[in-house]
Amino acid sequence: MEGLMMGTQLLVSSLIRNAAANHPATEVVSRSVEGPIHRYGYADLERRARRLANALRELGVGPSERVGTLAWNTWRHVEIYYASSGSGAVCHTINPRLFAGQIAYIVNHGEDKVLFLDLTFVPLVEQLADRFETVEAYVIMTDEAHMPETSLPGALCYETLMASASEDFEWPSFDENTASTLCYSSGTTGNPKGVLYSHRSTVLHAMSAALPDVINVAATDTTMPVVPMFHVNAWGFPYFTAMMGAKLVLPGPLADGASIYQMLETERVTISAGVPTVWLGLLQYLQESGKTLSTVKRLVIGGSAVPRAMIEAFLTRHGVEVRHAWGMTEMSPLGTINSPTHGTGDETPEQFCDRQVKQGRVFFGVEMKIVDDDDNELPEDGVAFGMLKVRGPWVCRSYYRESGSDTHDDKGWFATGDVATIDPRRNMQVTDRSKDVIKSGGEWISSIELENIAVGHPEIAEAASIGVRHPRWDERPLLVAVRREGSELTREALLAYFDGKVARWWVPDDVVFVDELPHTATGKLLKMQLREEYKDHVLPTA
Ligand code: ADP
Repeated sequence: MEGLMMGTQLLVSSLIRNAAANHPATEVVSRSVEGPIHRYGYADLERRARRLANALRELGVGPSERVGTLAWNTWRHVEIYYASSGSGAVCHTINPRLFAGQIAYIVNHGEDKVLFLDLTFVPLVEQLADRFETVEAYVIMTDEAHMPETSLPGALCYETLMASASEDFEWPSFDENTASTLCYSSGTTGNPKGVLYSHRSTVLHAMSAALPDVINVAATDTTMPVVPMFHVNAWGFPYFTAMMGAKLVLPGPLADGASIYQMLETERVTISAGVPTVWLGLLQYLQESGKTLSTVKRLVIGGSAVPRAMIEAFLTRHGVEVRHAWGMTEMSPLGTINSPTHGTGDETPEQFCDRQVKQGRVFFGVEMKIVDDDDNELPEDGVAFGMLKVRGPWVCRSYYRESGSDTHDDKGWFATGDVATIDPRRNMQVTDRSKDVIKSGGEWISSIELENIAVGHPEIAEAASIGVRHPRWDERPLLVAVRREGSELTREALLAYFDGKVARWWVPDDVVFVDELPHTATGKLLKMQLREEYKDHVLPTA
């Protein structure tokens, strides 16, 4: 017997319709690429998204056709999110930090019909346009006054296009399983892989992300995603902020400490999110300027492991709660978050920081387990570690236009490629990406743990640990570290700092100091490059 409830489909357009109807004047504030701050309300945003939906139709974008974007976090990018998905097309966000060849691959593989780009990326796209096989129109996201001279064939101006389109548009209803958004995981090896979200997965992910135990967003909040909208939909912020009717602040192209601080303070942001590198920059700025954060309550940090020192600095110096989160493009991206439970009890600041080092627990919708090489489930004792597998309504079931996948099993679990422990309270901790784990004498050493300890040293700005060949142990850890400006810290002093913090055999065999470490397009340490660079490094113990 079927239930007798309405079959209202879960559609991305419902999020902006809700914000416009119930929170019409609540602001969306952006730092524009041109410079000035732009502000308007949700009703204006929705009206312009309708206009843009008409413009897309005039450009010939039909149902499920892909609309590419190369853009920062601004109101125009949000308009494209809603106009494209909401009208039944697919919004395809492209990470401009990828190598040129990868961008060409992604645009062609995604078969983007129209490409929207910020002024910043005009030179990049001019170089690549010859290699794009399917793009029929380029729209530069600016007004007439700022339109650049460009060699892009028939380049259109965003605001001119908007001005000529009608506002008269009714958001269509269709099956909630229709594709809404396409996002490629940057993939440190091989070609990037496309993850194709549906309207249903996007709305369910947004609804869960806003819950008190996850990001905890209310209509009275002001959120600011520093995480780019070209990186897994800015972790869902443009969706769940509209769902809750909270104020949305978009930092545009500037993510340095001073610019982020200015936006946080002047717009009275309460919740923000991004990768650890961004917050390292902010902490440094705060320390140098002697300023403090006056409105931020909570920072959601993930993408890479959050060092304990960062959690502690935000809590003790600024009274800000860090919520450590873990996820991936394949998971929309939220998988786990570290929030308290009845079992956590009253915590001292020390205990809070100890707990937050872990990536946290799953919340309703996501299931997780750890397995050994033969796919046997491992005990959840906080010690045993193995491949982390997940499943749920916002986890991808296969990649876009890829036949076969060795990451999905026949019981519907997705192998994340992360190695993790799960403790009896079900807090998960990533010990490594499976390809980064250091294999010493048949045992595994967590490269993340070594890095966390190293950056806990007051004179270390950043560190990476990799396995290098060793005649006896197969691999031993090498630490490649960046010292803070002016520091003369020695190799010996840094190694001594590991004493008592890990088992003796985990302590790195050697340290190399460098000026800078290589990063991926999403800000993670590019260990593949380091392994290549140091493959012939002779350890003093060898
Ligand atoms: P990419 O950077 O490859 O495009 P994602 O952004 O999807 O891909 O990255 C997902 C990966 O990032 C995870 O599989 C995990 O290895 C790593 N990651 C994400 N959050 C955390 C975290 N809090 N701690 C450690 N690693 C993390």
